Amino acid sequence: MIYFDNASTTKLDNRVLEKFIEYENKYYANPSSVHDFADQTNKLITLSKKAILKSLNLDETKYDVIFTSGATESNNLAIKGYLNRKLTDTYLITTEVEHPSVSKTIEYISNNFEQAITIACSKEGYIDFTYLEEILKTKKVNFICMMLVNNETGNILNLKKVKELINKYNKNIVLFTDATQAIGKIQYDFSIFDMLTLSFHKIKGFKNFGLLIKKKEIKLTEQIQGGGQQNNLRSGTMNPPMYIANAYALQLITKEMETNNAKVKQIRDYIVNELNKIEEVHINTDLKNSSNFILNFSLTKTKASVVVEALSNKEIYVSTTSACSSHFVSFSKVIQCQYKDNVLAENSIRLSFIGNESLDDAKTFIYELNNILNIIKKR
Ligand code: PMP
Repeated sequence: MIYFDNASTTKLDNRVLEKFIEYENKYYANPSSVHDFADQTNKLITLSKKAILKSLNLDETKYDVIFTSGATESNNLAIKGYLNRKLTDTYLITTEVEHPSVSKTIEYISNNFEQAITIACSKEGYIDFTYLEEILKTKKVNFICMMLVNNETGNILNLKKVKELINKYNKNIVLFTDATQAIGKIQYDFSIFDMLTLSFHKIKGFKNFGLLIKKKEIKLTEQIQGGGQQNNLRSGTMNPPMYIANAYALQLITKEMETNNAKVKQIRDYIVNELNKIEEVHINTDLKNSSNFILNFSLTKTKASVVVEALSNKEIYVSTTSACSSHFVSFSKVIQCQYKDNVLAENSIRLSFIGNESLDDAKTFIYELNNILNIIKKR
């Protein structure tokens, strides 16, 4: 089997699983209970928060960590939690290429503020800076919500420039990013963000666990009512051994980022080189400004869905658009936004890596892809 679908999810790292088993066997008390055993498990929560912030190079005196069920919940909490009040004369700015857990949440609460302004894609990237600057000059903006690494193409959005504009026009604007595909993949100064989210199953941690990290002074309204855990921000019994294990996954992926990057870059470069020999291939990823862990390309003469299915029959797993919204068939809003071309948008294929792959896997992939394209051509 060849698994090139790591942006959808990754295989759990055995070291993380072992860490979980070790801690779960020892510290299974509910940390909200009143006894000493609970106090011991409570300490693990503090420890894991410290480890998480350290891995991300964030100052623990400035940031809070909230444990959630994944990036989807974290994005919901960040957006709804912050914008739950009526902010009738203020504007929210976002991009056309956000993950649905962001774009649909914004759509859902769009009555709570004047308007969500979606910045159109420019030819150079996903943010039209001339337009953004115009809005910042003329409108009262409260919240900017832009992802850091796009989940379909791996392209990196220029959020440093967004931060510069915030500093120039209105320092009070809250800058929130969905960093799910950036964490453990690119070196970045995350301290430019007021809030950020991530998901552990994208970095060889457990599925259904994520984080919202926010500056302490940012006040949010809870989205899940209940026992009042996590300073009333996210009720539900906490899982300290899991937090320790996931914090360890983050620590490992951060420590091994350079090695993994070198490895996947070699694989991506090889595949790009081979794909460029196929006349109908169009590379969608901006190779100079992207995470090495994602490669997106389109077929201009063959249906991508047919190719993805044929690869799947050979136990080579890749995806069309993001797994959350498709099976084999797709239409990529992101590719459409970038290239304004329906054929490219309907026929994109995403390969995504984590560092477990070999060059031999890449060679097999290219060999099978060429075979499949030749068979289709002969039909
Ligand atoms: N944001 C981005 C950019 C993602 O790639 C994903 C996963 N497809 C999510 C959010 C949702 O993450 P989760 O599965 O943890 O809810």
